[in-house]
Amino acid sequence: MGFLAGKKLLITGVLSNRSIAYGVAKACHEQGAELAFSYVGERFKGRITEFAAEFGSKLVFDCDVADDAQIAQMFADLGAAWGTFDGFLHSIGFAPREAIAGNFLDGLSRENFRIAHDISAYSFPAMAKAALPYLNDKSSLLTLTYLGALRSIPNYNTMGLAKASLEASVRYLAEALGRTEDGRCIRANGISAGPIKTLAASGIKDFGKLLGRVADAAPLRRNVTIEDVGNVAAFLFSDLASGVTAEVSYVDGGFSQTAGLSADMV
Ligand code: NAD
Repeated sequence: MGFLAGKKLLITGVLSNRSIAYGVAKACHEQGAELAFSYVGERFKGRITEFAAEFGSKLVFDCDVADDAQIAQMFADLGAAWGTFDGFLHSIGFAPREAIAGNFLDGLSRENFRIAHDISAYSFPAMAKAALPYLNDKSSLLTLTYLGALRSIPNYNTMGLAKASLEASVRYLAEALGRTEDGRCIRANGISAGPIKTLAASGIKDFGKLLGRVADAAPLRRNVTIEDVGNVAAFLFSDLASGVTAEVSYVDGGFSQTAGLSADMV
């Protein structure tokens, strides 16, 4: 029996078997969690239904987080299926292509800023608010963030601003949910993953070059995998992490703690 036995978790953001959310689903399934999935867009329904079946689940929900009504509907439907549950993974990010390429100011516009923040940042606390009536005591909420929230990283640009907002929301959510009025303790955390080749990441200009530079400079001298991230996510969803909230945990081979240089480089 795994350390997530008896836990019911909603996994958002599985788009392919390279998605970070796929790695999280795999690790949580291996530790005995029961899973449900959300996706966006009717054309992906078949693919997500197959992924869900791989993890022994029949629960898939179409939910575009740009729409409050769809978020509310998803949790109402999940509530009807499960009654209550134990947390969700927010693995959702989007910014218009020109906002994640080249010079920061060239890609900056009010509309690009709005879209990046709406989809990539607002959606996490918005989902938490809608999920609250259905969350058990000791639930855990988790989002995916990136070092570009704290440091300027070439091409990450407007997405870095959105991730900074997302990380702030982790801290405010942790405070709001740490002890609810009805006595539930709900935790909120983020994982700051090192760069991983996924569909979302391939939208960032020169992402391949970034992967190589990070692998060379990171203390572990490699890029991290969705399995590396998935295992930490499973831990953070579990009661083993009962004292951990409001944190951003780095799963990046140590890169964030270097000056971008390894001993081999000097
Ligand atoms: P991915 O392309 O596999 O996943 C991105 C997901 O976002 C997709 O499933 C997509 O359907 C979903 N999405 C986009 N717009 C949406 C909307 N309006 N409503 C609902 N879902 C929507 O890529 P990924 O790299 O696995 O990305 C997952 C998360 O991890 C993102 O927040 C990303 O910023 C973050 N992250 C990625 C990396 C990396 O290098 N890949 C590093 C750190 C953090």
